[in-house]
Amino acid sequence: MLQRVFVRHKSSFSATVRLPQTKFPGRTDQHAVQTQLLPQVTTELYDWNNRREVKSIQELFILHDGPPYANGDLHIGHALNKILKDIIVRFELLSGKKVHYRPGWDCHGLPIELKALEQIAQHKKTRKKEIKRKLKTSPNPELEAELAALEARLKPLEIIELCKQHALSTQQSQSAQFQRMGIMGDFANPYRTLDKNFVARQLRVFKRLFDNNLIKRQEKPVYWGCENATALAEGELEYNPEHRSTAVYVKFPLEHPPEAFGPQPVYALIWTSTPWTLAANRAISVNENMAYTIVESKGDRLIVAQKLVNSLRTIDPELRETDIQIPGSELLGCRYRNLLLVGGSQDTSLPILHGDHVTDSAGTGLVHTAPGHGQDDYFVCLKHSIQPYSPVNEHGKYTDELPDNDLQELVGLRVLGEGTQKMVAKLEKLRLCYHLDPNYTHSYPYDWRSKKPIIIRSTPQWFIDVGKIKAVTTELLQKNVQFFPPRGSNRLVSFINLRNEWCISRQRSWGVPIPVVYHKQTGEPLINDLVIERISQVIAAEDVESWFGESPMEKWIPSECNVNPDDYVRGTDTMDVWFDSGSSWTLVEQFLESTGLLPQAVARGYLADVYLEGSDQHRGWFQSSVLTKIGATAPGEPAVLPYGKIITHGFTLDEKGDKMSKSLGNTIVPVDIVEGNKAKKVPGLGIDGLRLWVAQADYTSDMAVGPVILNRVADVVKKLRFTFRFLLGNIGDMEQTVDYAQLDAMDRYILSRLASFEKKARQCYEAHNYSKIIKDMNQLVNVDLSSLYFDIRKDPLYTDFADSLKRRSTQTVFVEVLKVLTSVLAPIMPIMAQEAWNHSPELVTDGLRSSFMRGWYEVPQQYLNPELEAEMEQLLKLSHQIKTAIDKTLRSTETMKMASETEIYVDVAPETALGALVSKYEAQMTEYLMVSKFHLNTERPKDVLLETTDGDISIAVTRTDLDKCPRCWRYAVEGPAELCKRCTEVVACT
Ligand SMILES: [Zn+2]
Repeated sequence: MLQRVFVRHKSSFSATVRLPQTKFPGRTDQHAVQTQLLPQVTTELYDWNNRREVKSIQELFILHDGPPYANGDLHIGHALNKILKDIIVRFELLSGKKVHYRPGWDCHGLPIELKALEQIAQHKKTRKKEIKRKLKTSPNPELEAELAALEARLKPLEIIELCKQHALSTQQSQSAQFQRMGIMGDFANPYRTLDKNFVARQLRVFKRLFDNNLIKRQEKPVYWGCENATALAEGELEYNPEHRSTAVYVKFPLEHPPEAFGPQPVYALIWTSTPWTLAANRAISVNENMAYTIVESKGDRLIVAQKLVNSLRTIDPELRETDIQIPGSELLGCRYRNLLLVGGSQDTSLPILHGDHVTDSAGTGLVHTAPGHGQDDYFVCLKHSIQPYSPVNEHGKYTDELPDNDLQELVGLRVLGEGTQKMVAKLEKLRLCYHLDPNYTHSYPYDWRSKKPIIIRSTPQWFIDVGKIKAVTTELLQKNVQFFPPRGSNRLVSFINLRNEWCISRQRSWGVPIPVVYHKQTGEPLINDLVIERISQVIAAEDVESWFGESPMEKWIPSECNVNPDDYVRGTDTMDVWFDSGSSWTLVEQFLESTGLLPQAVARGYLADVYLEGSDQHRGWFQSSVLTKIGATAPGEPAVLPYGKIITHGFTLDEKGDKMSKSLGNTIVPVDIVEGNKAKKVPGLGIDGLRLWVAQADYTSDMAVGPVILNRVADVVKKLRFTFRFLLGNIGDMEQTVDYAQLDAMDRYILSRLASFEKKARQCYEAHNYSKIIKDMNQLVNVDLSSLYFDIRKDPLYTDFADSLKRRSTQTVFVEVLKVLTSVLAPIMPIMAQEAWNHSPELVTDGLRSSFMRGWYEVPQQYLNPELEAEMEQLLKLSHQIKTAIDKTLRSTETMKMASETEIYVDVAPETALGALVSKYEAQMTEYLMVSKFHLNTERPKDVLLETTDGDISIAVTRTDLDKCPRCWRYAVEGPAELCKRCTEVVACT
C-alpha cells in the first residue's frame, strides 16, 4: 500500500502537492553499509562505550563470550549465538550501561590437531611423489635427505606449530565473519585459549584446585577413544541407540556351594554385552537384598535372581525352576572359578561381592565385574582392595598382560572386533556359554569425534574430585543463578550431580600441558606448589613450546624441591579442552580488577552478568566454568560464581525439521542469508535481515531456517524500510512539534499505541523475548501505521497548508514514531536504525550521532491512554465492517473503483454505547473511512447500492454526486475540474 504513496500525481497541480522527500534510500546501499554504517554501529560505537566511566557494578554489563572452536567456517548456529549475544549487549548499552564483550576462541584439542595433521600429510605426500620422480632420473643427496626427513614421524613441537597456525588463521577468518554480521565487541583484543597468558592463567587455576586438594591421579577405568588413543570425558560421548554387540550368558562353577544348594554342581550365571572383558573378570557382584534361586536347564543347575526367572524363559523355554531359595546375603563369601584363567599363573578362584548397582530389572541378577573396564565394577572392587586390570592398549587391542595361558593367542586383536569373536569361541570351547545373542541391539556410547564406539579401559589419569565440591556448587547454582529458559537449572544441576570425577588428562600434543614432572625410573609424579608455579611462570614468559621442546629440566624444577632435576622428565599429557575454556572466567576477573569493581562483584556473588550458549553447554562450558571457579576458591574466601544468569538457545534445523548437513544438501550458511543464494532459493536479507531472522524465532527450542521463513523475513525488512522512508519523507519541512493538548483523537490514539509498544518492548528485552517484540512491531507498523494512520493522513500531509494543525500534528506523531523505532529496533537491526537516524532531523536525534548515545527512548507517560485505545478499537471495528461493505459494493459495480467515491449511511440507536461513540466521532468518520461523506441516522436516498444490518447497526453505501478535486482527489466538489474549498485556498497562497 505504501508504494502507492510514491506514485507521482500527474495533475497540473503537482507542483503544489508536497510528496514525500528523503535521501533515505528505497533499497539497501551496500557501499554505505560497508563504509559508513557498519563501522558506525560497531567499532565507533564500542570505542565510545569504552570511554565511558563507571563507578558502580550496576552501571556495568558483562556478557562473557563462550569461545567457539577455531576450526572451520561459521555455520548458522554460530550466527544465531553471536547475534543473540549482540542483541543483549546492545540493549544494555541502550539502557545506559557500559558494556564489556570480549570475543573468545577455543583453540586447542583434537579436531584442530587432526585437521593440521591431515593438511601436512597431504603436503608430504605430494612432495614425496615429486622427489621420488626426480630421484628416478638422477641421484641427489639433498633430495634423499629431504625424503628421509619427510618419512620421519612429526615431533610434538612440529605438530604444535602446525596446530597454532591453523587455529590462528581460522580465528582471524571467523572474527572477520562475525564482524560482518554487525557484532559489536572488543574484536581488536580477543581472548584465545592458546595465548601464553591464557595458558599461564589456566595453570594457576589448576594450582588453586591442587591447593584445595581437588587434583588426584588414579589408575581408573575411563572412557577411551581407540581411534585417537585418548581418554574421553562424559561430554565427549554420544549414544547410538542402534549399536549391536555380542551378548552372552556365561556360567561360572561355584567352588563350595552352600549346603542348601544340594550336592550337585552349581553355576553362577552372568550376562554381559562386552564378552571381551571376561578375561579381566575379577569378581561377580550380587545384591545382598535380592532373593536368588536355582533353575535347571539342559542338565545344569544355575543361580539366578528369583525375579528374573520368567524373563530367562523367553530365551530358554525348557528352563525349570526349583524350590531352592537363598537371599543374596548368603551368596556373599562364596567363591567361583573363572575357567578362562586355567593354565596360567593367575588364581582362578574369585569372590562373589555385594554391589549396590545390581538390580533385578534385566540380566540374571549376578553381574560380571571387571574393575579395569567399568565404573561400578571399579568401586565395588575398590572396597575389597582388588586392583583395576585391563590388558588392552590405547588402540583398543589386547596386550600380553592377558592371562599367561592360551589366551595369549588373542594378543594384538581388536577387542571390539576379532578379539570378541575369539573370546566367545573360547567360552564355547570351555562350555561356559549358556546362551549367545550375536546381534544384541542397545544404546552404546560413541566418541563424538571419530563416531566410533568407545571402550572403558583403566589407565593412570589426572582427575578433579568433583564429588568434594558438587554439593556447594549445585546449591549456589540453585540459589544465585537465573536461568532462561528456567528448565536449564535442573539440567545443569542434575549433570553436576551425576558427576564424581572429571578426567582432565588427554594423551595428545595440542593442548595445555598438565604441569607435572615424572621420575625417570619409577614413573612417580612430582607435583607440588613450587613445580606448578615454576611451570606457569616459564610458560607465561616463553609459551608452551618450551615445555614440549628440548630444555634442561632445571628450568622446570625449582631448587627448593631438593631433587636432582636430571632424574625427571616432563609429562606429555595435555588438559581436557573444557578445562581451557572453563578457566576463561579469569579474564572477567581480570577485567573487573582493572575497573576497580572486583570487590563489588565478589559482594554480589558472581563475575559476569550473562553466559549465553546452546543448551548442549549444560554438560560442557557452563559446567566446566562453575566447577573450576568454585574449585579454585581459597579456604576462607567467599565462593563467587562465574555468572549471574545463564541463557540457552536451541539448534537450527531446516524447514522440514531435519538437521542441516552437507550430505543432505540442506545447509544454509550465514553468508547465504546476508547476500542471498539463488540455488537455495534464499533471498538476500542483508545483515539486519539475518539478525531479524534470529530475533523473530523462538530460540528457546530448535528453530527452522529455510526459504519460506526467510522470504517472510525479507518482507518485514522491506516493510520497515518503506516505513522509515515514509516517515522521514514527510517531516523534512518541520520546524517544531505540536503540543500534546492540541493533538486530535487519532494522533493521540497512535501515540498511545506507540507508548504501549515501547513499554512492552522494554519488558520483552528484559525478559529476552525478542520474537514478541518483532510480532508487536509488525502489528504497529502494518496495522496501526501503514493501513490506518499513514493512509488517512496522506491527504493533509500532501495537500494541506504546510503549517496546518493536522499536518503539523501528524508530523509530531511521526517524530515520536521515529524516536521509538530507532530506539526499539537498534539492538536487533542496528544498521537500518542507524541509517534512519542519520537521515533524521534534529527533532528526532537531538544532534546526537546514534540512538545508543541518547539511550532508550521512553515516551512521555501521558501518551498512554487505555480508555482512548478501547474507544478507538470499537470504532475501528465498525470501520472494518463499513469497509467490508464498501469493498463488496466496489466489486459489484464496474464504474466505481475507490472508496472515496462512496457515501456512507449508518443507522445506530443513539442511546446504545456504540451509538454514543459514533456520534462523538461523527465529524471524523469521513476522514477515517476516506469516503466522500458520512451520514449518521439520516434518511437514506433511494439509489442505495448496498445495505447491510448487523444487530443494532445498519450500513448503506451509495455513489456520491460530488466530483473529484483534481488536486487532492477527494470527491468534494460540485462540478468537474473544480478545486475543492481547501485546495482553492492552498493554491491561492502558493
Ligand atoms: Zn482538493
